[in-house]
Amino acid sequence: MADNPPEFDAIVIGAGMGGIYALHKLRNELGLRVRAFDRAGGIGGTWWWNRYPGAKSDSEGLVYRFSFDKETLGEPIGNNRYIDQADMQAYLESVVDKFDLRKDIQLDTGIDGMSFDEATAVWTVSTAEGETLTARYVVSALGPLSMEYYPDIKGRDSFQGRMVHTATWPADLRIDGKRVGIVGTGSTGTQFICAASKTAGHLTVFQRTAQYCVPNGNRPISAEERAEYRANHQKIWDGVWISYVGAGFQESQVPAMSVSAEERRRIFQKAWDKGNAFRFMLETFSDIARDPAANEAAAEFIRSKVREIVKDPETARKLMPTGYYARRPISNEDYYESFNRDNVALVSLKENPIREITPNGVVTEDGAEHDLDVLVFATGFDAFDGTYKKMEIRGRGGVALRDHWKDGAGSYLGIACNRFPNMFMVFGPGTVFSNLPPGIETQVDWITSLIKTAIDGDKPCIEATEDAERTWTSTCDEIAEHSLFSKVDSFINGGNIPGKKKRLLFYVAGLAAYRQKLGEVAGAGYDGFVLGAPMQREEQPTA
Ligand code: FAD
Ligand code: NAP
Repeated sequence: MADNPPEFDAIVIGAGMGGIYALHKLRNELGLRVRAFDRAGGIGGTWWWNRYPGAKSDSEGLVYRFSFDKETLGEPIGNNRYIDQADMQAYLESVVDKFDLRKDIQLDTGIDGMSFDEATAVWTVSTAEGETLTARYVVSALGPLSMEYYPDIKGRDSFQGRMVHTATWPADLRIDGKRVGIVGTGSTGTQFICAASKTAGHLTVFQRTAQYCVPNGNRPISAEERAEYRANHQKIWDGVWISYVGAGFQESQVPAMSVSAEERRRIFQKAWDKGNAFRFMLETFSDIARDPAANEAAAEFIRSKVREIVKDPETARKLMPTGYYARRPISNEDYYESFNRDNVALVSLKENPIREITPNGVVTEDGAEHDLDVLVFATGFDAFDGTYKKMEIRGRGGVALRDHWKDGAGSYLGIACNRFPNMFMVFGPGTVFSNLPPGIETQVDWITSLIKTAIDGDKPCIEATEDAERTWTSTCDEIAEHSLFSKVDSFINGGNIPGKKKRLLFYVAGLAAYRQKLGEVAGAGYDGFVLGAPMQREEQPTA
């Protein structure tokens, strides 16, 4: 083995926030030989791919960023409360340049397979372009939301206009003055609708499920707020690490039904006026995502706003969400107001499904032909494991990751899988439900410490045990049982993809609890992992 060392100590897959930070930590802090790869033509991951009109963060900008770069932390990114796609990409570019990472990022290079050699504890990684490389460790920062989902609708490929998915929006595509149709009204679709309604000649919204959407309260950051942030950013971040979703505020401890109906409405109204979906769901009351009665109170408040805002009663009726308010919460500038515009039409697919897509546009069951220049799919992602399953990943004994996950994706801590030694996922299935940047930093910091421990101890082969993976996955399942998020189909539980096994793919006990658990595991000598020399591990991790 010493005669034939791997070319790299570590390969990082992905150049989004996770990959950028992993490259920085492993190369600049541990001094390892690292190369990062991305199939994209630029860095930024999500923020490189999702260039559709209206794309921006819905986490507040102050906490949607890296916290590790203390020098710039006091300066907001961009000018607004939320970060526009272009500003976010520029920010990530600036981080890459500042930490001199660009020279070790290879773009336009997809990784299509990797296999683990037990004798040497080395991964062989192959690119779609035919290159083969070896590395001791692989950090796969593939993105939980990076594999776009296109529904299979009859006639889809016959459309003669421009047909696009928001997650692969072409840089040259403009919709100004055009007849645009959009399928999908999730976080992406609603953002797109707010922006496109102001520039498209005509916008037809094909809505399957009506959404609970609250205002985001977006506005320019004032000079006073900038000064205040400069003074207080460390305090804000101190609060992030000990909160439930790491979104820059402390979640409420007050159950919704413990106050009067009048007081509830006052609190909801205050949150509505302030804006932000996470605040509306979690800063108002403690149990909206758990208690059906609390959930219904929040849901009914939002429905009352739809009635108030949308002028045409028939449109308001179609936009009225029903059922639990239990998907990832959505907020936007002026979603419901968009439907008061003369150039916006709403088709409720539950009442009037798409019959087929034709060369000219979309035909619905009522026989109406919706002629379009651009047809946009904002139909989401095959989240978490979708990207992994596209790759040929073979672990110990040649087992394929897609077979390992045949009964549903899981992991130990959202980070590692038994039989896949030395492969560490950033935001893999079973990861913490949080505002992502602090979750990503938490994981990458921890993975870095684990690798350092293994190298320093001359036990470079690291594998999660079968028992640890099983226990963590069932812990996630048990916690999920108490959450209404498991009761409504969405990408959070795999229910958005036909045929996908349903399982809440998050650890929903919160960021603070997750960090505590990671601390305990590390403190106990990386409990649940076996560290050893290749082929000489002290114990076989599987039965
Ligand atoms: P990504 O940014 O998805 O990066 C993964 C990279 O891996 C991609 O560039 C991809 O090309 C690459 N890759 C994947 N497979 C391969 C392969 N086989 N070979 C080579 N490269 C590969 N989260 C929040 O918390 N708050 C928000 O406000 C928020 N806004 C969002 C807005 C949009 C439009 C979307 C789509 C997501 C948003 N998210 C938000 C979630 C967002 O994905 C994360 O916040 C974060 O950007 C994820 O970073 P990442 O590095 O883990 O993954
Ligand atoms: P999504 O939440 O999964 O929404 C997909 C939409 O497409 C839903 O409205 C869905 O309808 C619809 N759809 C799917 N298949 C369909 C079909 N066959 N026919 C008609 N409609 C169909 O995906 P997303 O909006 O891209 O958001 C995914 C996640 O990305 C978000 O939850 C968030 O984490 C992140 N994101 C964040 C922001 C932000 O605000 N910063 C922006 C974009 C994305 P149903 O509801 O009926 O399934």
